[in-house]
Amino acid sequence: MPEYSLVIPAYNEEKSLPLFYEKVTPLMETLGEDFEMIFVNDGSRDSTKEILKALAEKDKRVKVCNFSRNFGQQAALLCGLTESKGRAVIAMDADLQDPPEVAMEMIAKWKEGFDVVHGKRRKRKGETVFKKATASLFYRFMRKITSLDMPVDVGDFKLYDRKVVDAILSMGEHDRLLRAQTTWVGFRQTIVEFDRPERVAGETHYTLKKMVKLAESGVFPNSSYPLTLPIKLGGALCGLSLLTYIVFIVLACCKVAFGGLTAWLFPSLGLAAGLILCCHGLSNVYLSMVYSEVQNRPKYIVADKINL
Ligand code: UDP
Ligand code: MG
Repeated sequence: MPEYSLVIPAYNEEKSLPLFYEKVTPLMETLGEDFEMIFVNDGSRDSTKEILKALAEKDKRVKVCNFSRNFGQQAALLCGLTESKGRAVIAMDADLQDPPEVAMEMIAKWKEGFDVVHGKRRKRKGETVFKKATASLFYRFMRKITSLDMPVDVGDFKLYDRKVVDAILSMGEHDRLLRAQTTWVGFRQTIVEFDRPERVAGETHYTLKKMVKLAESGVFPNSSYPLTLPIKLGGALCGLSLLTYIVFIVLACCKVAFGGLTAWLFPSLGLAAGLILCCHGLSNVYLSMVYSEVQNRPKYIVADKINL
């Protein structure tokens, strides 16, 4: 069994991969312990597959999974985690934006006893203002609407202890944002900060569509907040309508003219709409319970046991 597994998703990374291998392999060798590098070729259309095949032929520590099509980075990471055998698993990008030196710092933290080490981006070079702003907003939004204590500005560059990998793999969901699940499973977690460099070659594969999909995978499986909106809105509308009725009744009692019969239509419509929203919200309560059952997450995760 190797001590370390590196998991590297790769989509059209023909230019980056040789540089990645040349830089990371000697650094890992300095540790003097066994390691494996699991590359997951996520349906690339360039020569990624051939490059990985050649690397695997000359170095048995290189292992490769070729996807039948592009399934996305999260699926590639999941595949890598599933195949990994190491006692510590480090997920990193193929484009060297996750500096290997920082992976060494992560290993040092793991040796200190941490089970998860997140790579936190202090600065991000070579990325558009739009990407930086949306990413920054996303992490803060996730913290607001989920109960997860997810660290901000942390992507998928992480070290996982074997028990964390096993806990994540025991979660039955299809739609996953690994960085959210990593927080959900718990254990001793810490952070190492780094300045994210530019891609070593090529361009980002994260189109706006993929970014939206990633955000959805973070929000919906981890928060029932959107489902609670109708009941909140409906309750507020009912309250406001009832208040308007009271005001109208008081005005009518005091014989103050305020628009006649038609004015009563507004709170009545508000009340009707509010009640409909509340009923809809009530079905959402059941929907969120059904969703949580279907997710089939473990009910708890045991970190260790004594005298058992
Ligand atoms: N990636 C992948 N499948 C995809 C998109 C990206 O496996 O559909 C890989 C990509 O090859 C890289 C990592 O995921 O190793 C991060 O992707 P990218 O560098 O494009 O994202 P960014 O760093 O710009 O957020
Ligand atoms: Mg990148």
